[in-house]
Amino acid sequence: MRLTFLGTGAAGGVPFYGCTCPACERARGDSRYARRPCSALLESGETRILIDAGLMNLHERFPPGTLTAIVLTHYHPDHVQGLFHLRWGVGDTIPVMGPPDSAGCADLYRNPGLLRFQVLRKFEPLNIGPFKLTPLPLIHSKPTFGYAIEDTGGERIAYLTDTVGLPSRTKCFLREWRPVDLVIDCTHPPQAPSPGNHNDWDRALATIDEIGSARAWMTHLDHSLDAWLLEHRPTLPQGVRIATDNTDVTLAG
Ligand SMILES: [Zn+2]
Ligand SMILES: [Zn+2]
Ligand SMILES: [Zn+2]
Repeated sequence: MRLTFLGTGAAGGVPFYGCTCPACERARGDSRYARRPCSALLESGETRILIDAGLMNLHERFPPGTLTAIVLTHYHPDHVQGLFHLRWGVGDTIPVMGPPDSAGCADLYRNPGLLRFQVLRKFEPLNIGPFKLTPLPLIHSKPTFGYAIEDTGGERIAYLTDTVGLPSRTKCFLREWRPVDLVIDCTHPPQAPSPGNHNDWDRALATIDEIGSARAWMTHLDHSLDAWLLEHRPTLPQGVRIATDNTDVTLAG
């Protein structure tokens, strides 16, 4: 299976509108350092699943028939805003699965257009093509699911954003399930006390350590974390990497 990071930024992205910090200036000068709304594309054979829909050009990027399904982590605008344009298209419906959230985002449920919303239940696996996705509750200001993703070859990856820490049942599940790759919310530079809605650097590293996966990828980075990384250049633990837009994780099988 292949997972491509389409976006690795927090709300507001990098460069952040109006900001002149070193990270934002760097991203303005070199688009490889830009961070778009946090999202990823999961692929195997003919199956293509978009995880989160915050990119504003989804309607151009994915012509009709190229997406098997869209799976949402939650209904914050930076994770669903691309749906507002996509929905008014014509043609086959697109399944959009996500956590139970009666509020959703704005009028998406009332005017779904060609989107077909489906509610997932925590810890109840969903099969799409060769993938099995198990929704895992996270800790965030809206109902939010991470996903334990497994393909028929037995490859495993966990995608966990947005969250601050993990609920104990999710943590127990992951410790037992043992994903090879872990993608984790790492929004802020180290902060004391840890922020209430997203991991900071220290909390993300602690969670990676607790789960014990061989490789981990930090995503959902705020511009302030990029600026902190530029200034401090910390040594990353073995197997831990900072995701950038348009890079991919390819697993055998
Ligand atoms: Zn977010
Ligand atoms: Zn900045
Ligand atoms: Zn969020």
